[in-house]
Amino acid sequence: MKVSRRACLKMSGFGVVAMGMLPRVAFAARNSVLSMRTGAQPNGKTRLVIETSARPSYDISYPQNQMVVSLSNTTGSVTPKLSGDTLIKNITSIQNGDKLNVVADLRGAISPIEKSNVMILSPNGDNEYRLVLDFAAGTGVAQSGETAKSAKTVTKKYTIVIDAGHGGKDPGCIGKGGTKEKTVVLSVAKKLKKELDAIGFKTYLTRSDDTFLKLADRAEIAEKRHADLFLSLHANANPSRQTRGYSVYTLSEKASDEEAQKLAETENAVDRIGVSGFAEFSKEIRVALSSLQQRAVAELSQEYAADCARAMDNASITRLPGPNIRHAPFAVLRSTVPGALIELGHLSNASEEKLLKSDAHQNKLVRAIVKSVKNYDFDV
Ligand SMILES: [Zn+2]
Repeated sequence: MKVSRRACLKMSGFGVVAMGMLPRVAFAARNSVLSMRTGAQPNGKTRLVIETSARPSYDISYPQNQMVVSLSNTTGSVTPKLSGDTLIKNITSIQNGDKLNVVADLRGAISPIEKSNVMILSPNGDNEYRLVLDFAAGTGVAQSGETAKSAKTVTKKYTIVIDAGHGGKDPGCIGKGGTKEKTVVLSVAKKLKKELDAIGFKTYLTRSDDTFLKLADRAEIAEKRHADLFLSLHANANPSRQTRGYSVYTLSEKASDEEAQKLAETENAVDRIGVSGFAEFSKEIRVALSSLQQRAVAELSQEYAADCARAMDNASITRLPGPNIRHAPFAVLRSTVPGALIELGHLSNASEEKLLKSDAHQNKLVRAIVKSVKNYDFDV
């Protein structure tokens, strides 16, 4: 079992179970089409809606009398609901490797779909992600299968929720020199927000001062902000004063190792949330966590966590000996937003406590995390 889950995913192709490290997860593709429908819009426009379990990544091409929406890393066979009065006659889904091509037979030529007429909607109510395409009859489309590059990228500012762990009555762990986890992580969170804002991300802090927040509330902030990434910042303590180093965690019901399990129990203890009881979480979140979504979120979180560990390693920040990514049932990560819990270092280690207090080291951590966020592929 020395194969990392990440490597395993890369090798797995279709239908291979991920080595039992995350037992419920058998990745074939990261995304699935859940439904498709067409409808007539005002001004004679046609609307095509493709509902997917995760944020879709797509390309559009226009072969003769057709429009093909090619969805990366996607599977699915659904019967489209077609409205009779649109420009789309018929829709067939064709699996091509890890791509799903949604082929729409058209009643006539259409104009290339402009950026402004493509929307990706985040899940809400009974709906999952939706790719919404509006188009009209026209003559502007080349007949040679030319890709509409203009439609490929949707201008979007990615949203990141930064969670400074603990706060208020809950100090988190405390170093021998008296440094409190809640203070260190708030300072790092604020610095991180400033840097990410500066390069164009839209960021929110779960707390910006010394207040107590329940774990469920933190997760809910990420949901309500429709965050693309959730980063929960913590610092660690270990009975052995020698133990030092950062570690990165993602959510799983089963911990990767005993240490990770204990850590999750400690971090969850603040709300007295057991590893399996999440009753406090809002109905919205509990309902939203379909197994399909969990799979997609788990995979994206794993990708981010790998980016994060790599950036920390590259910055020569000491890593807690062991795997680069661990997982455990952290309550705060339980949402539909991909993310990771980062233990920045050990306050129980005297020299690391000193580092964690210092601006220079905090800035170093922030730079590494910023790099990891820049490396993360949001466009999925
Ligand atoms: Zn903590």
